[in-house]
Amino acid sequence: AAKEQGKARCVDFQADMHARIVDQLDQERRLKTAIERGELRLHLQPIVETLAGRTEGVEALVRWQDPAAGLRAPGTFLPLAESAGLITDIDRWILRESCLTLRAWQDDDAAGAPDWITVNISAALLDSPDLPDLVTRTLRETGLRPEALVLEVTETTLMRDVAGTAPRLERLRSTGVRIAIDDFGTGYSSLGYLRDIPADVLKIDRSFLEGLVGSDRHRGLLAAVVQLGHTLGLRVVAEGVEDAEQLAELVGLGCRYAQGYHLARPAPVGQLRAAADLVRG
Ligand code: C2E
Ligand code: MG
Ligand code: MG
Ligand code: MG
Repeated sequence: AAKEQGKARCVDFQADMHARIVDQLDQERRLKTAIERGELRLHLQPIVETLAGRTEGVEALVRWQDPAAGLRAPGTFLPLAESAGLITDIDRWILRESCLTLRAWQDDDAAGAPDWITVNISAALLDSPDLPDLVTRTLRETGLRPEALVLEVTETTLMRDVAGTAPRLERLRSTGVRIAIDDFGTGYSSLGYLRDIPADVLKIDRSFLEGLVGSDRHRGLLAAVVQLGHTLGLRVVAEGVEDAEQLAELVGLGCRYAQGYHLARPAPVGQLRAAADLVRG
């Protein structure tokens, strides 16, 4: 009987595996179709210069308008996109859409539009040899100035191969675009790479803001990180600013740029512009 049970369990296991593989393939197919059908959406989140209170930049964040599930955040489909080899298609779409969108906004409203847009670059896209050409071509075709484009690469992606990545970033920068280190401080790795990675912007991960208010130790660590960025000649952006106290702390520490729900949530460009027009009257 034990043998029979074992056999039954084995069959169960195989059926389960089979179901999971079918489900995975089904989801991959749905995502692929979604990209082809134009179900991706570009949302933008303001990056605010804290002295003037002006939205100097915006970050491009992808969403999937899924007819079955509604608007989906990247965390629900980017891992699948990565394993299915679809992530570079998504990044390429977002890159182009970002350049088109900022260019149109700047043409329409030179004074009110942000100066730059940041676009997240996946490890797979960073590894594509044609990335510098893609960037140059996209800028040319959309008419966006190179200084208006910032490419965000996460610290984790940079850490994979600092020596190999540095010259690639240098090539990208020679096209006139800038490089931001994203999610800084989450890599649990040595700081030595900061010496070797050519970058322009340091985005401090939002985990550094947790427990900040009222804790000298937290404030001290954040102050040191802001200082580190400035010492290296980088613009420093604090991510995930959720309340006025955090913003006040950051301003006190001399952190010049802030991004977070307290300032503005990510939204489609139309909504952002409508909100900005309301403020200006
Ligand atoms: P990220 O690049 O670090 O982007 C910031 C994330 O923090 C966004 O999440 C944003 O909505 C969220 N956020 C902003 N302010 C706050 C706040 O005050 N509190 C909290 N708790 N969260 C805040 P989102 O849009 O869900 O994106 C998650 C991640 O997905 C991004 O993290 C980025 O790594 C990745 N991602 C998004 N769009 C793209 C894309 O087009 N290509 C690639 N390769 N990755 C993308
Ligand atoms: Mg980012
Ligand atoms: Mg980030
Ligand atoms: Mg982050």
